[in-house]
Amino acid sequence: MKILVTGGLGFIGSHAVVELLDNGYEVVVIDNLYNSNIDVVDSIKKITGKDFSFYQNDVCDLGVLEKIFNEHTIDAVMHFAGYKAVGESVKKPILYYENNLVSTLHLCKKMIEHNCFKLIFSSSATVYGEAKILPITEECEVGGTTNPYGTTKWMIEQILKDITISNPNFTVMVLRYFNPIGAHKSGLIGERPNGIPNNLMPYIVRVATGELEMLSIFGDDYDTPDGTGVRDYIHVVDLAKGHLKALEKAISSQGIYYYNLGTGTGYSVLDLVHNFEKVNHVKVPYKIVERRPGDIASCYADPSKAYKELGWRAELGIEDMMRDSYNFILKQKDY
Ligand code: NAD
Ligand code: UDP
Repeated sequence: MKILVTGGLGFIGSHAVVELLDNGYEVVVIDNLYNSNIDVVDSIKKITGKDFSFYQNDVCDLGVLEKIFNEHTIDAVMHFAGYKAVGESVKKPILYYENNLVSTLHLCKKMIEHNCFKLIFSSSATVYGEAKILPITEECEVGGTTNPYGTTKWMIEQILKDITISNPNFTVMVLRYFNPIGAHKSGLIGERPNGIPNNLMPYIVRVATGELEMLSIFGDDYDTPDGTGVRDYIHVVDLAKGHLKALEKAISSQGIYYYNLGTGTGYSVLDLVHNFEKVNHVKVPYKIVERRPGDIASCYADPSKAYKELGWRAELGIEDMMRDSYNFILKQKDY
C-alpha cells in the first residue's frame, strides 16, 4: 500500500513517515522545505533502513500533484503540510489562508481525479476555541477560533465535510492534535523551529542548553492547580502511531470521522519545567510574566473515542517526552 505524505519532512510528518516505513507501507513525500530541512530525508532512511520517494515541491502546485499521482498509485494521503505559527498567522493572514486552504483544495481535487479517496488530515484542538467543558470530547462545539491559523483548520474541516457529502467514496479522518512534543528516541528527528520558539517545549530545551537565558512563564494567576496554563502534551511518536490506526480505519470505512489525539492528562507549565529538570538533571531558570494574549487556562482531551474506535491510546509518559525532547536538541548541537 502506497501513502502520500504531504509535509513529511516536518516535525510530525517525519515521525509518521518512520512509522509507515517501519510497518511495511511504501511512502511518497512532498515537502517544499518551508519549515524543514533536506537532511531529514537521510535521518528517516537511517532510522528505518528503508527508502522512499521525495518531491521537493509545493502542495499548492496542481501540476506537481498531477505528476505525483501519475507516477504513483496512491492508496491514501496523510496531509501534514501547512503553516502553523499562531502569531505569524495574525500578522500574515493571507499567507496562512492561501497556503493551508489552497494546498488542501488542490490535494483533494487531484485525489478525486485519480480515484484516491482516503485522507488523514492534521487538525488541531484549537478548533474547539475556549472549550466550555473539560475534558474536551469530539462532541464539543467547534469554531470559536481566535486566530487565522486556527480558523484555517476549522475552515478545512468544513470543506472536507462538504467533500465527503458530495462524494460518498471520499473518506476523511480528522485528527485533532493536542500539544505534540518529544522526538524520536534515536535523536535523529524532532522539532526544529527557526528563530526564537513560540511554543513551550522548544523554549524550555533552549533554556536548558543555555542558548536562551530564561523561560518566561505567561501568567501564574489562571484558575488551575498552580496558576499556570494546563495543556495535554502528547509524545510525537504516540501521535504518529495514531495516524497508522486512523489509516487502517480509513481503508475499511466511508465518511468523515473526528478524533482527539491527546493523552487525557493535563500538565501545567510548572509541571513541565519541574519534570524536565528532574529527568534531565538540568536547571531551567524561569520568571513569571504577564499572560499571553489569547491564551486559555486549560485544555485537555477526552481521548476515549480514539481508543474505542481506533484501538489507539498514548503510551509514552511525561518523562519520555522530557527525555526525548532534550536528547534531540543535544544531538543536533553535538554537545
Ligand atoms: P511542521 O512545520 O514541522 O511541518 C509541516 C511541513 O509542511 C514542513 O516540513 C513544511 O516545510 C511543509 N509545508 C508547509 N506548507 C507546504 C506546502 N504548501 N507544500 C509543501 N510542503 C509544505 O509542522 P508540524 O508540527 O509537523 O505540523 C504538521 C501539521 O499538524 C500541520 O498541518 C499543523 O498545523 C498541524 N498541527 C500541529 C500541531 C503542533 O503543535 N505541532 C498541533 C496541531 C496541529
Ligand atoms: N508558555 C509559557 N512560556 C512560553 C511559551 C508558552 O508560559 O514561552 C505557556 C503558554 O502560556 C501555555 C503553555 O505554555 O499555557 C503551552 O503553550 P504553547 O504555545 O506551547 O501551546 P498552546 O498555547 O498552543 O497550547
